Amino acid sequence: MQTLEIRDLAVALAATPETPIVKGLNLTVRSGEVHAIMGPNGTGKSTLSKAVAGHPDYTVTNGDILLDGKSILKMEPDERARAGLFLAFQYPSEIPGVSIANFLRAALQSRLGENENINAANYYKTLYEKMDLLQIARSFTSRSVNEGFSGGEKKRCEILQMSMLKPAFAFMDETDSGLDIDALKIVAHGVNTLRGPELGIVLITHYQRLLNYIVPDYVHVMFDGRIVKSGDKTLALELETRGYDWLKPAPQPPAAS
Ligand code: ADP
Ligand code: MG
Repeated sequence: MQTLEIRDLAVALAATPETPIVKGLNLTVRSGEVHAIMGPNGTGKSTLSKAVAGHPDYTVTNGDILLDGKSILKMEPDERARAGLFLAFQYPSEIPGVSIANFLRAALQSRLGENENINAANYYKTLYEKMDLLQIARSFTSRSVNEGFSGGEKKRCEILQMSMLKPAFAFMDETDSGLDIDALKIVAHGVNTLRGPELGIVLITHYQRLLNYIVPDYVHVMFDGRIVKSGDKTLALELETRGYDWLKPAPQPPAAS
């Protein structure tokens, strides 16, 4: 079993490190668990996932992110990926001229040693098995990565990458724009198919609706850079009826000087 531990994490834009966006966030995810992080727009959900990915625009100003007890903060994004973290947005959004099949093969190849090569026959066998499992049409693999994709197709591409790369932990930031109900269903089907004892999933969303299709083990509500409430799936139902306002923390008194 593996563990990803986010400990008292503070994150700011690299350009303005004195102004934190994530302000002391704690979260522990173990293999096999599905965690949903919810919260209104602008509370730092995407900033959290970008910090985990090692996005260069963001800087960790306090706390730590530990994978099986070891800090990943000094690791480059590609090292984090090889260590078993999957973060959808680390991939360029469009790669004209590069087919999905070739892209995935290159991603897998990059994890091997210099003298190791992917066996093409095995690669396609695995790829087609995963596509069948995820109900993705074969023709999909010859399209250029994300070029002209609909929201749903981008999600399909993301889920297929996840199934091929077999990460230990996947952060899925369901950014607010362009996710229609079809895309939500694709994500839900993919997550439900791939969830299992080897994979920990953090689903970031502000859509309660997504959780009608994916039943998370834990639900966390984020407000102003922190997790203000955690619970089980019933918390998501409560949010659906009550909204977020009841969880809004009281304004912090100014720090004594
Ligand atoms: P969420 O994903 O919860 O909607 P974000 O993490 O995207 O929240 O943003 C949290 C806050 O940080 C917002 O006020 C947003 O404007 C600001 N922020 C995040 N990233 C950037 C950025 N690259 N440039 C400027 N402001 C940013
Ligand atoms: Mg966001």
